[in-house]
Amino acid sequence: MKAYRIFNWGQGGKLVNDVAVPEPGAGQVRLKVAANGICQSDLHLMKEWKASPSHLKIELPMTIGHEPAGVVDKLGPGVEGIEIGTPMIVTIAGCGHCYYCAIGRNQYCLHKGKQVGMGLDGGNAEYMVAPADALVGAGEMDLAKAAPLSDAGLSSYHAIKRVEHLLVPGSRVAVIGIGGLGHMALQILKATTSAHIIAYARSQHSLDFALELGADEARSSTDAASFEPMSVDVVLDFVGSAVTIAQAAGMIKPLGHIVVVGRGSGTFDFKHNAMPYGTTISTTFGGSKFELMELIELAQKDVVKAHITKFSLDEVDEAYRLLEEGKIQGRGVIIP
Ligand SMILES: [Zn+2]
Ligand SMILES: [Zn+2]
Repeated sequence: MKAYRIFNWGQGGKLVNDVAVPEPGAGQVRLKVAANGICQSDLHLMKEWKASPSHLKIELPMTIGHEPAGVVDKLGPGVEGIEIGTPMIVTIAGCGHCYYCAIGRNQYCLHKGKQVGMGLDGGNAEYMVAPADALVGAGEMDLAKAAPLSDAGLSSYHAIKRVEHLLVPGSRVAVIGIGGLGHMALQILKATTSAHIIAYARSQHSLDFALELGADEARSSTDAASFEPMSVDVVLDFVGSAVTIAQAAGMIKPLGHIVVVGRGSGTFDFKHNAMPYGTTISTTFGGSKFELMELIELAQKDVVKAHITKFSLDEVDEAYRLLEEGKIQGRGVIIP
């Protein structure tokens, strides 16, 4: 079968057509992949990482792609209660027995180890295997639009749920970066809160897109006057660079919360007067299985939907090039 794989660190991915169709092991399920969303994290993994992070223990070659949806094709030994032919979204599997798994926060699991596209072969392939514990039913959804829910949608949904107590009537929320995640966040905010939503982006087409998606205002992030001191209760930073974190700190209100979701590796010089009193700044990672189920409900009602650009597996290099150049509006999706 065809698969888009990384063979050596720092050398990008390569499409090959001689990979064996994988057999599901104990506790695993094989899926016929319907779609896989492409993510900025794939670019970091393919181009910037020099070795595997120690907790992932990635061995090369590995198929790229951690945002897949597909149809159950074969069950591994010991898997019960899943029907062949069921459409599924693949998310993060936890160990099932640590504190974080016990409270339903599987994405923060202490022992989650290898994940699909991050240690296990991922979704840019015709078939893949996933831990049965990583699957959530996609219901009646178009799987090309369902795939981006597993990462772009879920990471945004979880970031918003972290701060929902602040998103009350009369509150104001800033969304920095209107890419794969930001475009989902605007719709989720509109659908689940009554906060006044201000989108920040660099290009005019992203600002226009933000207004289409439900932002109440769209402001240029290249204009310093766009950022008013103490003007927002929440900032969702989907870039995470030193510049965007400083912008967030420059507009947060007392007792506000800045959620840094983007992995731009920006640093911030924290001290007592760096932000207004009582401000929180945090990261988040992914989302939980029950949050994905809630998000699928919103998507099935059509109040939140991934805006996608489809590429075939033969076009995968081109798709990642356009992602890197910031030329994909919404999410790029590979259809094997
Ligand atoms: Zn991702
Ligand atoms: Zn766990």
